[in-house]
Amino acid sequence: MNAPEPKPVTFVPRGAAGELARRLRRAVAGDVLFDRASRGRYSTDASIYQVEPVGVLVPRSDADVRAAFDVCRTLQVPLLPRGAGSSQCGQTVGAALVVDHSKYLNHVVTFDRDARTVTVEPGIVLDALNAWLKPHGLRFPVDVSTSAQCTLGGMTGNNSCGSRSIAYGNMVHNVLAVDAMLADGTEVRFGPESEMNEAVPRVRELLQRLKALGARERDEIERRVPKVMRRVGGYNIDLCCPQSERPYTDDGSVNYAHLLVGSEGTLAWTRAVTLRLAPPPQHRVLGVVNFPTLYKAMDSARHIVRLGPSAVELVDRTMIDLARGNPAFRPVIERALIGEPDAILLVEFIGDAVDAPARALGDLVALMGDLGLPGSVVQMTDAGAQKALWEVRKAGLNIMMSMKGDGKPVSFIEDCAVPLEHLADYVDRLTAVFRKHGTRGTWYAHASVGTLHVRPILDMRRDGAMKMRAIAEEASAMVREYKGAYSGEHGDGLVRSEWVGWQFGPRLTRAFEQIKDLFDPAGLMNPGKIVRGTRMDDATLFRFGPDHHPIPLDTALDWSAWDVHNDPITDTLSAPGTGGDPAHGFAKAVEMCNNNGHCRKFDAGTMCPSYRATRDEQHLTRGRANTLRLALSGQLGPDALASPAVREAFDLCVSCKGCRRECPTGVDMAKMKIEFLHHWQRAHGLSAKDRLVAHLPRWAPWAARAPWLLNARNAIRGLAVLGERTLGLSARRSLPAWRRDTFLRDAIAQSGECAMEGDVVLFVDTFTNYFEPENAHAALAVLRATGCRVHIARAAAGDPDPARPLCCGRTFLAAGLVDEAKREAHRVVEALAPQVERGAAVVGIEPSCLLTLRDEFLVLGVGAAAQRLAERAFLIEEFLAREHRAGRLRLALAALPEKRALLHGHCHQKAFDAMGATREVLGFVPGLAVDVVESSCCGMAGSFGYEAAHFDVSMRMAELSLLPAVRAADPATLIVADGTSCRHQIADGTMTTGRRDAVHVVRVLARAIDAEGAGPGVWLK
Ligand SMILES: Cc1cc2nc3c(=O)[nH]c(=O)nc-3n(C[C@H](O)[C@H](O)[C@H](O)COP(=O)(O)OP(=O)(O)OC[C@H]3O[C@@H](n4cnc5c(N)ncnc54)[C@H](O)[C@@H]3O)c2cc1C
Ligand code: SF4
Ligand code: SF4
Repeated sequence: MNAPEPKPVTFVPRGAAGELARRLRRAVAGDVLFDRASRGRYSTDASIYQVEPVGVLVPRSDADVRAAFDVCRTLQVPLLPRGAGSSQCGQTVGAALVVDHSKYLNHVVTFDRDARTVTVEPGIVLDALNAWLKPHGLRFPVDVSTSAQCTLGGMTGNNSCGSRSIAYGNMVHNVLAVDAMLADGTEVRFGPESEMNEAVPRVRELLQRLKALGARERDEIERRVPKVMRRVGGYNIDLCCPQSERPYTDDGSVNYAHLLVGSEGTLAWTRAVTLRLAPPPQHRVLGVVNFPTLYKAMDSARHIVRLGPSAVELVDRTMIDLARGNPAFRPVIERALIGEPDAILLVEFIGDAVDAPARALGDLVALMGDLGLPGSVVQMTDAGAQKALWEVRKAGLNIMMSMKGDGKPVSFIEDCAVPLEHLADYVDRLTAVFRKHGTRGTWYAHASVGTLHVRPILDMRRDGAMKMRAIAEEASAMVREYKGAYSGEHGDGLVRSEWVGWQFGPRLTRAFEQIKDLFDPAGLMNPGKIVRGTRMDDATLFRFGPDHHPIPLDTALDWSAWDVHNDPITDTLSAPGTGGDPAHGFAKAVEMCNNNGHCRKFDAGTMCPSYRATRDEQHLTRGRANTLRLALSGQLGPDALASPAVREAFDLCVSCKGCRRECPTGVDMAKMKIEFLHHWQRAHGLSAKDRLVAHLPRWAPWAARAPWLLNARNAIRGLAVLGERTLGLSARRSLPAWRRDTFLRDAIAQSGECAMEGDVVLFVDTFTNYFEPENAHAALAVLRATGCRVHIARAAAGDPDPARPLCCGRTFLAAGLVDEAKREAHRVVEALAPQVERGAAVVGIEPSCLLTLRDEFLVLGVGAAAQRLAERAFLIEEFLAREHRAGRLRLALAALPEKRALLHGHCHQKAFDAMGATREVLGFVPGLAVDVVESSCCGMAGSFGYEAAHFDVSMRMAELSLLPAVRAADPATLIVADGTSCRHQIADGTMTTGRRDAVHVVRVLARAIDAEGAGPGVWLK
């Protein structure tokens, strides 16, 4: 096919941006963001593209949007509506005023339980809507994978589809009406033909011309629009004569809202959308069919769909292997496998009565026998097992996306839909095409509707664009041959608008342009998408084009693990440090963010507390990664890394490490913040407060000699106010109280000489030692009760400061003082090396301190001994749980008066998967039931919550779920929290409502040891 000539994405009059910003600021109450960094953060979505917007508006109300339309019309600046920005095709990038609805316009407008309908604002997130509907026994059934972040406005804009579309249809089958505003300001409710208000001249004109166009093009529509359900490219011009296997309306009537569904914000602004709801199915069963070849799996799909499943999802060999390689997923996937299949299909049946799905499962077993694969089905009726397996499928994709190096899986043909009878041949032939172009793809997803996701691995900085076009041309030829749809799920955007003409032919392409001009004659709505698009391989629009060059940078941390090349065919990585990154791997680590938007979530997990509290793109993992990427590639101006714009983006990052674990590509923003702060403090120095907090471990021994002096600040209000004025420490906070009876002083005084060859080394951190020594005493008592010999970690004899306690260096890292942190790390590694070499376990109490030994120590350049220490370093509960599982732990515990415990996990505990161990050891206490708070960060996060500037946001974080859960707990419930800061936040946050004091898990165990009836502990080897 001949590619069209490149065209500008859009033309914005010179000087318009400044005038637009000025007028908007006068006209709207919402956030008006025109600074370079904000525009940069909105210049990307989950596609390969980057186009800088003119500015960004985060409207507070409909009135704000109306005002913005007026201003834009006057200045002739285009508008681009946006939800979560999780589009994969570049729908939400453009030189326009981006209007982000997700922060404020996210409410339910009306709900009719009997009619099973709901009307919502465009920015509401699908999971949030379904949580709202749950008590009413209903839900919105279009279950897209991005349900935790995608908005209903965006889903409508993209005509999104879920795994169960075979049962529930796409958005177009579930949208009943759209309340919209046209670019000229006309407000129209688009819905069933009979309900359209033709008294309005503009509406009358629209309908007359649309009807005429539909009648004129009827034959062409029948000829050119693919007859598959999964067709989301172009406009739904077939609304008057649907070509989809599934009609758009139940009775075949015309609903004009369906023209806006899938229109990608190019026709009108969606103010509200009315949706059809469904009750959740009462029963689900899953049959996992094991296939010897991928071909056979694909060939069987057409037979399987005749059994009426709600989903048929593919997991290929690569994903099976990835899941097997993960200790958490291995048992789950193994349960689904029979032998060594090349592919499995997850076939789900649903029903309101138990017998229908069960019968269908039996039919599946029989069918597979008929197809020559007897005994190939693993039957899963247990809801927990089914859920676990669906999680594996999702995680497999995430692991694939976490590929290091410049070659990345690129989305451009990943949702072609072909009729099921051709699926097997299509997969086979496309695999050969990939091979021919020196790459490969991993196949997954919706076999039920012929939409298989596949992303070939391409390097867009080098030959990726060329290969992308070549592969797209070959794939499209196949799609045409099979009479399929080139876009079956993700839409057109920048990557596929060029292909609209190819798919629908010149007549319908012209008709699409006429529809666009009819709705939006001035071309103000998201120009360059669906009609009059640009070339898919226009490198000037790429995020990582040939001109993308990171700046050279000497880094403080070791990022070499990211500085690698990958080989797509062999799936191998070159040695660390060989990837050619002038920023020594830091830029490549930042570039791991592919903008999928997963961090915009509010469900279980930690990531990202600052976004949860603010809903600002700036205060989101993705926003920070984009800010860093722009700074590191010179796109925010010279020396931008140490600029205020980057500092602002990091201001509310609490270094919780939630992203380290939960980001699909492993973006570790907490570590990146350390690197950034290193460069910041070198350029700008440190504030008095930062210096004071950072050096706390060094001056703490002096403070402990006269604790009353420092503690006076908590008792005398005037001192607290003075502290806020001079240091910025909030007067609304109490500070941790210094103690004279520090643990190390007392423990050493009691035990005289430490047993230098202990089985366990107790690493007591600065905070526990100086502020809560009773926790360290409890830990010592618990360890001793198990019978093990305990060595208390102390500085090595040759240490220049042998009397000063060891310290993990956390406070230095939090200030970017990497060299000081390195010094502390060296002390720890050297002091503990003899015990570590002898195989002793190093056990700690405070999660953020102990886990520094397992995390940051490894990138501080401390040497191989740090790796060995990391392997032997455990939180006390991890250590006890490990010994218990190995059958070596004997710890006699008696029941406590409290029968329930409410457990809040420290973010780093969660990031390092230690919560299971904490629950497990609490379970050692007889009769103690443990509930876990589904909480993100407590908001205190080291010194963050103590700072006056952060007090409010810190409390907002705590109020999201932690504090309400603590307040709701029965007074007899034990509140358990291992983090020093978490305990302080809980005490502060409940001060006025009935103070609750949380305790460390070791205190619970120690009490249970002391409790009457507990026998002596016995340590078995
Ligand atoms: C990892 C991953 C998995 C995905 N899985 C799926 C999947 O299973 N199924 C699927 O269909 N898609 C999937 N997608 C694509 C995408 O997540 C969905 O299309 C999603 O519904 C988009 O929602 P959003 O809020 O991010 O919309 P955005 O990307 O912000 O916007 C989408 C379109 O809607 C328009 N729009 C937004 N709000 C309005 C408004 N108020 N008025 C007019 N136009 C508006 C925008 O201009 C844009 O053209 C996936 C994407 C990723 C990254
Ligand atoms: S930071 Fe991670 S989760 Fe967030 S958008 Fe980037 S890749 Fe996705
Ligand atoms: S470390 Fe925590 S606060 Fe910072 S970006 Fe990651 S999830 Fe967000």
